[in-house]
Amino acid sequence: MPSNFINFHSGLGPGTVEKISARAQEKLNQFLWPLISGKKLIFTWNNVYEAIWSALIFWLVPVFPILYLVFGRLFMAKIMFSNKDCVSCGRCAKFCSNHAIEMKSLFGKKRPFWTYHCENCLRCMGFCKKKAIEAGHSWAIVLFFITSVPVMAWILALLNRTFDYFPKVSNHWMMTLLDMIYFLPALMLSYLIFWYLIHIPAINFFFSTTTLTHYYRRFHEPATRLKDLINKK
Ligand code: SF4
Ligand code: SF4
Repeated sequence: MPSNFINFHSGLGPGTVEKISARAQEKLNQFLWPLISGKKLIFTWNNVYEAIWSALIFWLVPVFPILYLVFGRLFMAKIMFSNKDCVSCGRCAKFCSNHAIEMKSLFGKKRPFWTYHCENCLRCMGFCKKKAIEAGHSWAIVLFFITSVPVMAWILALLNRTFDYFPKVSNHWMMTLLDMIYFLPALMLSYLIFWYLIHIPAINFFFSTTTLTHYYRRFHEPATRLKDLINKK
């Protein structure tokens, strides 16, 4: 399938998408039509490719969901924001199958706020007509530093100065525990502050123009329309 990781790379062009889809169709035809016409299929070349792929990545398979759960929800979703072109239409929130976007209001303007339900499928980004959704790469760097190295180091140094506590937390597990206690509140607070700050045009401009997604092409599966995706639950 054509990749839709448009927070990591520019959306694929129509020519590339067509080529990938045509190749997939070719493979599909190898077994679909014989199956539909009632023939038995014991072996196709696809079985060989699948076997090789499985052998290569199988050991990674149990890791992917966990990585996605932790990295996707706790980090990638927290770098999403809307740029100045957002017209507050609420389309991104309405069509998110996970109800992961809240339209929050500030200074009379509503903007999307990405909650922890976001699974980073990037549907909102691909379908926003105004190309207003960004995955802030420069903000990701800031967020990484806030939630990890320097602020934690500062807190530990403060603890050390105040309580002479540092020798005890030099223990690896104690450090990890402190990191974890610090990480979530730091992440939540940082994203909240970031969301407020992007209402200031100069700050929004800075973070928009310093993210690669600002220059990337958007992409979604060409034959799919949003109304096909409405969550009917
Ligand atoms: S980000 Fe796009 S889809 Fe979402 S409210 Fe703004 S303009 Fe509408
Ligand atoms: S990336 Fe997917 S899950 Fe996350 S808010 Fe957008 S549509 Fe919803």
